[in-house]
Amino acid sequence: MTLSAMLRARLDERRARGLYREPRTFAAAPMPQVQLAGRELIAFSSNDYLGLARHPRVIAAQQAGAALGAGATASHLVNGHLQVHAELERKLAEVTGREAALVFSSGYMANVGTLCALVGRGDTVVSDKLNHASLIDGARLCGAASLRFGHSDPAALERQLQRAHGSGGNTLVAVDGVYSMDGDCAPLAQIADLCRRYDAWLMVDEAHGFGGMGSNELPLAGSAAAAGLGQAEVPVLMGTLGKAAGNAGAFVAGSRELIDFLVQFARPYIYTTGMPPAVAAGCLAAVEVMQDEPQLRAQLQRNIALFRRRAAALALPLAESASAIQPLLLGDEQRVMAVAAELQARGFLVGAIRPPTVPAGTARLRITLSAAHSEGQIEGLLAALAESLRSVAEVAR
Ligand code: PMP
Repeated sequence: MTLSAMLRARLDERRARGLYREPRTFAAAPMPQVQLAGRELIAFSSNDYLGLARHPRVIAAQQAGAALGAGATASHLVNGHLQVHAELERKLAEVTGREAALVFSSGYMANVGTLCALVGRGDTVVSDKLNHASLIDGARLCGAASLRFGHSDPAALERQLQRAHGSGGNTLVAVDGVYSMDGDCAPLAQIADLCRRYDAWLMVDEAHGFGGMGSNELPLAGSAAAAGLGQAEVPVLMGTLGKAAGNAGAFVAGSRELIDFLVQFARPYIYTTGMPPAVAAGCLAAVEVMQDEPQLRAQLQRNIALFRRRAAALALPLAESASAIQPLLLGDEQRVMAVAAELQARGFLVGAIRPPTVPAGTARLRITLSAAHSEGQIEGLLAALAESLRSVAEVAR
């Protein structure tokens, strides 16, 4: 088969199944207003949970950071590690209550790099079935045996830990702290307890927890801190800087030894150009704003509560989520696309999430809330949602 014939066949198949995807092009990031094809829409689809992508202090810090060089010009271990990276790593260790942290250029790289550094042939990775693709890919690539367990089911996890325990190698349990397409939190206290009993190492991906939730002492540290867990229970904490922090990049935080080890063995850290200094400066400013402006987290919580209260009153198919991610499970891919198009016609942008990102039959609207949304915008979205669902149901009849 020619390359072109293969490409066409696979693309046609995707189209026929209603799964074809393409990026839309925006002139600027949502604030949360965004221009698309000459119209202003309100976006409920970004991961900018605290509105920091548009925060003047964060943007000013990025601009000042660019004076250090548009790029880091080399990998961290050559000459691409600047003072601003080191300051960012110290700050991330401080706010997560860890001894040290290591910055990666993306969350995908942090997950793949960390898994592949920590485990390999003869070891076992045990993953939640709904883990983010980057954890799944890391588990596949690292060469360890890969076992999965039913979503957030401690009994199923224990069965897999029993299987892994007899194998002789090390076992790493990897879970999302907050699930990116469902918004629910992992039962981390139970998972950590099982890891302790079976001598397994726990890695938690806090991509959607970092910055938005935590404990009284560590309000930014994420869902593990909110569950009362620290470095002893969660030795490998991963977080991203492109979501609540509004920038780009990621980090792993843990013991000094863990970080020293990753510097030696995490290939996506070693063999890539350092994060641009402007981005590192923007991330540092974003974490400082998180510390200085706790009212942003409070506003996000108020917005989540408002959305859920009003959505419940409208009998919308809400999921069990207390986080900024509020999916509405519609099931059918075509219906999800139709409702998203209706919403867009009414001035609202939401994520239409289909397989393979989520399991077949669970297509959903992924609505994400931000401290940057006003009450009026949330009320407007809900009114538009009720109308859109009604009008799609009428067409189907
Ligand atoms: N983990 C989770 C749970 C995520 O949602 C994402 C981003 N979609 C990532 C990791 C990857 O992070 P990044 O976008 O920085 O590569």
